[in-house]
Amino acid sequence: RYNPVLGCRNESTAAPSDASVPPAEKYEYQAEVSRLMDLIVNSLYSNKDVFLRELISNASDALDKLRFLSVTEPNLLNDGFDLDIRIQTDKDNGIITITDTGIGMTRQELVDCLGTIAQSGTAKFLKTLKDSKDAGGDSNLIGQFGVGFYSAFLVSERVEVSTKSPKSDKQYVWEGEVNSSSYTIREETDAAKLIPRGTRLTLYLKRDDKGFAHPEKIQKLVKNYSQFVSFPIYTWQEKG
Ligand code: ADP
Ligand code: MG
Repeated sequence: RYNPVLGCRNESTAAPSDASVPPAEKYEYQAEVSRLMDLIVNSLYSNKDVFLRELISNASDALDKLRFLSVTEPNLLNDGFDLDIRIQTDKDNGIITITDTGIGMTRQELVDCLGTIAQSGTAKFLKTLKDSKDAGGDSNLIGQFGVGFYSAFLVSERVEVSTKSPKSDKQYVWEGEVNSSSYTIREETDAAKLIPRGTRLTLYLKRDDKGFAHPEKIQKLVKNYSQFVSFPIYTWQEKG
């Protein structure tokens, strides 16, 4: 049932409209997600760099989805915004912002994609690790596997995902903290943070990881890991 164009692999069958989604703000992660997050944070601590590759690859996927969709719905691109990825660093406050002008997510997609395990492969992978004696996890294996969105918590204390889908009038904010079993979703109300389409991730870095919030550091990682991304990636430092 995975729709390669819209939504994630785990999109719910009922696909309720935004209006029918209960107004509840706090959600518990599916148990597998909590396990995956623990695993990531506990086994990849010496390979934290991968977070940027994972988040850029998600941004790139989201841009691909929008571009694909625009073939049949050209007006989706008529808002004057290019397909690109912008990475802003604020070294004084230890914040990295990654913005794409891609497909974005509806409120329901936030729940389906960022609160449950999206890949059947991930569940299998978790089982393999559990069955193996080395239940602590092989960081090499995990690194190769591609850990996805939750790798943001390798370096972040708190992550905000503010996102606007063409399928929804509203922009929503998903917010999660490291080592927490729940996350929240609310409507974006800050006018300064409204985006025409796509997704803006704000990473509030852990104390020891604030060094990632430097443009030179980001540029180096982009060069190492994401040089073949087919959309422009801009990086800059916020004025201090
Ligand atoms: P994967 O990319 O392998 O599907 P991830 O954990 O990286 O797994 O991401 C889970 C899902 O969250 C994605 O499949 C996608 O549906 C959604 N997602 C993550 N980042 C973005 C983004 N920047 N824009 C739109 N959707 C996103
Ligand atoms: Mg991904």
